[in-house]
Amino acid sequence: MVATIGVVGAGTMGGGIANLAALSGFNVILVDIDEHTLQKARSRMEAFMDKSVAKGKLTAEQKHEALERVKGSISLQEMRQADVIIEAVIENMEVKKEVFSQLDNIAPEHAILATNTSSMSITEIASATNRPSQVVGMHFFNPPQLMKLVEVVRGYKTSDETVEQVKELARKLKKEPVEVKKDSPGFIVNRIMIPQFIEAIRLVEEGVASMEDIDKAVTLGLNYPMGPFTLQDFAGVDIGLHVMDYFYEEFKDDRFAAPLLLRQLVRAGRLGRKTGAGFYDYDDAR
Ligand code: NAD
Repeated sequence: MVATIGVVGAGTMGGGIANLAALSGFNVILVDIDEHTLQKARSRMEAFMDKSVAKGKLTAEQKHEALERVKGSISLQEMRQADVIIEAVIENMEVKKEVFSQLDNIAPEHAILATNTSSMSITEIASATNRPSQVVGMHFFNPPQLMKLVEVVRGYKTSDETVEQVKELARKLKKEPVEVKKDSPGFIVNRIMIPQFIEAIRLVEEGVASMEDIDKAVTLGLNYPMGPFTLQDFAGVDIGLHVMDYFYEEFKDDRFAAPLLLRQLVRAGRLGRKTGAGFYDYDDAR
């Protein structure tokens, strides 16, 4: 039975997953290398819960109890008490492998080690441990408190038992799990979304339509909540490029070759909303 969930990385995703787990009644150990990030994660959790209290979805008492269940630390050693650990550090294979190698030494024998990677190989991450049957992808979507989907991804050696336990955990977190049966870059959602981004940028490069009209066409014609340019600006233009380069490298397939326009935007520092400009300009930049 899972009582304590460990989360490594207290950024956008890790902080959100910790928040979700605490609200679902689990004890949470949240670890980051940066003390300031931990404090920011705590403030974001409080702000999120305050909104729920204001809407009447949560009582002040429940908020207090949920926050009490979260223990923040800069020491990975705290993970010796975790039943499941969800890694959400930066999307860098070497960093992830280092974290998994350390977790393998620290975590209890029964513990499952899950990664929230958006596209990287679960099998390769698992190879940094001596328990590859207990290593699995648990891919949440941003913001994890609100987005319903979790992709549960099998590495080459992931056991059926691990997959079942993680699906069960996802349900306890009130998410809908889907199983990705093979460790393939981008899993389901990013594998479908990234070629759509590429095609949208090519349409602009070819002069077929404007970004504004493509966004409009996709929202109204496909009923998507955001068009491809608005969405890339929201998620980070550099993140999209990074995933395309990774797909291109892994599949050795021109379908995933990043358009030059996108690479130039990143070189120019136009990384999306977070920098005040991406495909579009924003004056309400954070
Ligand atoms: P982020 O940059 O907001 O957070 C990463 C955090 O990891 C930072 O706080 C950093 O200090 C910390 N960190 C780095 N090295 C560490 C280490 N060795 N030990 C502990 N903490 C460490 O990144 P994010 O957007 O939250 O993404 C995290 C992961 O989730 C990535 O693998 C990403 O691909 C994936 N993901 C992101 C999104 C998204 O929309 N942002 C969605 C799904 C999955």
